[in-house]
This record gives sequence, structure tokens and C-alpha cells, in this order.
Amino acid sequence: MSIKDNLEKIQNRINEAEIKSGRKTGSVNLMAVSKFHPQSSVLEAIQAGQFLFGENRVQEASQKFPEVFETYPQAKLHMIGQLQSNKVRNAVKVADCIQSVDRIELLEEIEKQCAKIEKKIKILFEVHTGEESKSGFKTTDELKSAIDLFGTGKFTHIIPCGLMTMAPFTEEKALIHKSFSTLRELSEKLKSEYKALNFAVLSMGMSGDFEIAIEEGSTLVRVGTAIFGERDYTK
Ligand SMILES: *Cc1c(COP(=O)(O)O)cnc(C)c1O
Repeated sequence: MSIKDNLEKIQNRINEAEIKSGRKTGSVNLMAVSKFHPQSSVLEAIQAGQFLFGENRVQEASQKFPEVFETYPQAKLHMIGQLQSNKVRNAVKVADCIQSVDRIELLEEIEKQCAKIEKKIKILFEVHTGEESKSGFKTTDELKSAIDLFGTGKFTHIIPCGLMTMAPFTEEKALIHKSFSTLRELSEKLKSEYKALNFAVLSMGMSGDFEIAIEEGSTLVRVGTAIFGERDYTK
């Protein structure tokens, strides 16, 4: 199966899941997670009409994407992996959105680095919703103290757009549902509590669980393996 065939298959499954869940067709966006896959695979996906990509390592993204953007300025990259503060400078250069904001210190560094290059960047707050995922804000209180800082006017280069989570890696579907519904309920709460901020994006669902995520309200699924094949971690 080619990347083009895989993309078509995933898009069809997304559309079916939208219909099955009574959601509007086209309400779920597809991100192609290209980590550990070469630039040639990214270009192949673009040829097939896929323009949104996700990477989890800054160095890899910085090697792969600037050239891609030169030829295809409409392509977009989100950083989706745990981000060390010392990688932020390069991350904000290459990314359109940082989905994995899991601490206040990271927001402060993103603001600082974006101010330097006069760039506004989108972010999602990553929330810990399942036992096994290691990253994300652990409590609603912690998350809210980060969100509250947006009321102080100190983050003029950061645009919050919503929430992101990873479900636990398990065969137990009930646990996966629970993780995704937790994120959706949290976003409903935040929407009513913080009227001035945007929490429209719910980034949840990967190759193994994106249909469940769509049932639970995902607006953005992050699919790697089902598009590009297995990753070779020895590279
Ligand atoms: C790797 C990764 C994905 C894609 O996972 P697949 O199972 O290959 O679809 C999605 N989200 C995050 C945060 C990832 O790190």
C-alpha cells in the first residue's frame, strides 16, 4: 500500500466515524505524524493532498521541514512530543503549533522565544487523562493556573487553541473512551469558564484509537503508523 492509498483509507474511516457518531462530515482534521520517516515520505503525502504534519523531536523536524516549506508554504507542522525548554528556540522556528504544552515554564519559554523572532504561535494544553501516559498537566488546578496567566496579558505571542491528550496504551476500550471523554468534558468546562479564550481543538486519537476518539468528540486525529507504516527506532 502506498502512502496515498493509506491516506485515502484513513480519510474514509474518518468520514465513516463522523457519520456513525452523528458528527458533521469534515469536522475532524487529519494530521500525518511523520516522525522517524524520511522527508521523501512527507513529500509523498503532500503529493496526495496532505498538508498537516506532526513531529515529536525538534532536531528531526528542523532537518526535515524547512525545505518542505520552501516548496510548499501551505504545509504546516505541529510539535506533538514532550518538549524540553532548551529545544523551544528551534521548535518555534519550525512549528505552527505546539500541542504538548504541559507546564507553565514551557509557556514562558515559548513566549520569550517567539517574542525574539516576532512570531505568534498556537498551542494546545496537553492533559494527562490516562494512567499510562507520562506527559500532560496532571490536575485541573495546575492546568487552570496556567490558563489564568493568559488573563494577565503576559503571553502576547501565544494563541491557545484547545486541548490534547494521549489515551492509555491498552486493549480495554472502556479505558480509552474514558480518557477521551475526560478531555471533552474538561474542554466544555473551560469553554464556559474562559469565554475570552479558544478551546475549540480537541487533539485526540492515533492509529489504534482514532475512531473511538471521533466518537468522543475529537476534532484532530494524529495518525502515524497507519499512514507511513511502522517506525524504525534504530535510525
Ligand atoms: C507518534 C505519535 C502519534 C502517532 O502514533 P501512531 O500510533 O503511529 O498513529 C500520535 N500522537 C503522538 C503524541 C505521538 O507521539
